[in-house]
Amino acid sequence: MAYIEPAPIKDRENPFESMMSRFKIASQALGLDDEVYNVLKSPAKQVAVSLPITMDDGSIQVFEGFRVIHSNILGPSKGGVRYDLSVNIDEVKALAAWMTWKCAVVDIPYGGAKGGIKCNPRQMSSGEIERLTRAYTVALAEIFGPDRDIPAPDMGTGPREMAWLMDAYSRIQGMTVNSVVTGKPLVLGGSLGRAEATGRGVMVSALAAMEKLKINPYQASIAVQGFGNVGSYASLLLEERGSRIIAISDLSGAYYNEEGIDIEKAIAYRDQNNGHLEGFEGAEKISGEELLTLSVDVLVPAATEDVITTENADKIKARLIVEGANGPTAANADAIINEKGIVVAPDILANAGGVTVSYFEWVQNRLGYKWTAERVNRRSDRIMKDAFDRVYETSIEYKVSMRIAAYIVAIDKVSKTYKFRGGF
Ligand code: NAD
Repeated sequence: MAYIEPAPIKDRENPFESMMSRFKIASQALGLDDEVYNVLKSPAKQVAVSLPITMDDGSIQVFEGFRVIHSNILGPSKGGVRYDLSVNIDEVKALAAWMTWKCAVVDIPYGGAKGGIKCNPRQMSSGEIERLTRAYTVALAEIFGPDRDIPAPDMGTGPREMAWLMDAYSRIQGMTVNSVVTGKPLVLGGSLGRAEATGRGVMVSALAAMEKLKINPYQASIAVQGFGNVGSYASLLLEERGSRIIAISDLSGAYYNEEGIDIEKAIAYRDQNNGHLEGFEGAEKISGEELLTLSVDVLVPAATEDVITTENADKIKARLIVEGANGPTAANADAIINEKGIVVAPDILANAGGVTVSYFEWVQNRLGYKWTAERVNRRSDRIMKDAFDRVYETSIEYKVSMRIAAYIVAIDKVSKTYKFRGGF
């Protein structure tokens, strides 16, 4: 199947501005003083490295790599490494701050970071990517560390790259240090339950929100945008809990069945069809835009950023939005969603199940012990439910949306810790 480009979005926002506008509103609601506001808005450390790599044809190509530590006030910083041609320092800074708030919302002892290399991994051989990953690790060996800064996969990277990163770092240290990175293959100390962790957290958040809104999950209809890691596991787990997933989508289009889509079948079809749903027969094809405006109880955007915008927010009929993706709602669409009375379980809360299980991977590595999937799931469900309750109560206390409440919870935790620790 030909690669399908997503439709252009007219009022796409800079992710940094999007994050900062909510950060500002929450800081004001919290009454954060200007001094601490200024501390929290600036990244603690930004590193840019150039990485000369010998390519397979013998030529030498120089790649740009970045690592931004937004905050290490709560503990070692945590965040993924992205391999993509669009990688730039502004985006890495925004994503690093996002990680700070996400870790603080779920109350895990991490700060936030993000890294990236400007490259096109789809046009590089496995050997070239391996050399690039090892060079990046060596260049940043003094930044990384299980007690300093812990990378993880992001767009364009996965368990394979994390294994190389762990190996390169371990060689420098002269011993195996598997806790320096998460998202590793299971045999190298990866955690059971990591693959489904984000979708599972979306499910826990959706059920908790449905309970508050008095939506019976057994009668609920749900539309899920994006059928990758997050969207497909969220769909499967919500279906298992009795809800009807009436629409799913990916870059090939959207698929609708009022009776409920058989998610196991859809996953099996996708897996045999190059990862796409094109031609899936268990549903009628509709447009991606139609999926967003269906009459459903719950909408789960789990594809990409800025899909709910000022252009379509007014047409959304769901009572509840549970954000599986990072930044699916443009900041300037927040007001429209709030006015319509739609409740949003925001990204920094709803998709934090992934970083929670990454934290468990690090904990297991440091213990030198392996937890069962059952233990991982039970503990991550508890963390997600507690975080949801904290954010919900904060939204009532401050009379703000769940999104602003999530930022309030996070900023409050980081700023209090900063004040206790003190500065120079
Ligand atoms: P993925 O690459 O596995 O899947 C993305 C899916 O979205 C694919 O099915 C793709 O076809 C579809 N898609 C992309 N653009 C679309 C569009 N415009 N309309 C409809 N479908 C579209 O990615 P993923 O890991 O599932 O991540 C999805 C989102 O969740 C991203 O925003 C990511 O940053 C966020 N997220 C992922 C994790 C994780 O653990 N994987 C954790 C936190 C947040």
